Amino acid sequence: MADVTCIRCGQTREEIEGTPYGGKIGQTLKEKVCNVCWKEWYEQSIKIINEYRVTLRDQKGRDFLATQMKIFFKLEAPSGETAVQIEDTPPAK
Ligand SMILES: [Zn+2]
Repeated sequence: MADVTCIRCGQTREEIEGTPYGGKIGQTLKEKVCNVCWKEWYEQSIKIINEYRVTLRDQKGRDFLATQMKIFFKLEAPSGETAVQIEDTPPAK
């Protein structure tokens, strides 16, 4: 497995295992995000899905989650969109 310099944590670590997402965004994630941060996002996404009752069968739900993911990784997110707050997220140190 190749190493990537991650845009989120800034460290050079192993790339994401497997294919995280289809299309161009999947390619970008693979090139710019490490496996550690990807797992963090994975856990965060589950919390978002539960808390906001995101339905991934709906395009709207998928778009919502994709936007949150872009914000999480500081990728290009649609302007005006901000990260949702998850109640059980411990306060930042
Ligand atoms: Zn990282």
